[in-house]
Amino acid sequence: TENLLIQSEKLSSAGQLAASVAHEIRNPLTSLKGFLQLMEAGMDNSGTYLKIMKEEIEKIEAISKELLFIAKPSPNELKRENLIELVGEVCLLMNSQARMHDIRLKKKFDCEEFMLNCDRSQFKQVLINLIKNAIEAMEENGTIEIHIHTKEQLLIEVMDEGPGVPEEMKEKLGEPFYTTKQNGTGLGLMVTKQILKNHGAKLEVKDREIKGSNFRISFKDLD
Ligand code: ADP
Ligand code: MG
Repeated sequence: TENLLIQSEKLSSAGQLAASVAHEIRNPLTSLKGFLQLMEAGMDNSGTYLKIMKEEIEKIEAISKELLFIAKPSPNELKRENLIELVGEVCLLMNSQARMHDIRLKKKFDCEEFMLNCDRSQFKQVLINLIKNAIEAMEENGTIEIHIHTKEQLLIEVMDEGPGVPEEMKEKLGEPFYTTKQNGTGLGLMVTKQILKNHGAKLEVKDREIKGSNFRISFKDLD
């Protein structure tokens, strides 16, 4: 059976999200304040302090950057875009990051043009999030495949050769701040899910036959 990433409305409820954002931001803020107080008190260790402070600021920066995408609840820039070209652009963009990890992006599209009503920058963000996760899952070496099927139903698949998502974790994906990474924000899939919902699409995760996961975007109605 299929494992839906998109779950009940409870996760997108603004109140719960606000509470968890406040919590996530408070930790780095508390630590920043502590280090500032130490520096104020004249503790001569500012080199080390500054490094940690910078990391804490980067954490807050990463959280706010991802949150900006949910601040805009519905796509107001729906335009007809050539999906094939758009996905090609994202691959080009992500190629250098992939190469640094010795990872190859392999595209397989069943046509050269497919027009889709979408918000260009938001839809790119969806693909960037999925490809970034795929790279992070694989760490070093391998191939990420990006397939587009347009024949019966529009499907976009991002497939990696990483460890996959354990069955019991699948339902957690997309919950705000759920992350298994040291420096993760746990917001990427939540944002992804929200953007796709605004486009009448959904996200599922499947296991690949041999190794890795397949994050699949499917569209309900094509116009
Ligand atoms: P982050 O990447 O900051 O951790 P995401 O919302 O993008 O946040 O992902 C949440 C979690 O989902 C990740 O921490 C990871 O455990 C899991 N995950 C996402 N994509 C993959 C993937 N391609 N392979 C394995 N696990 C994944
Ligand atoms: Mg991510």
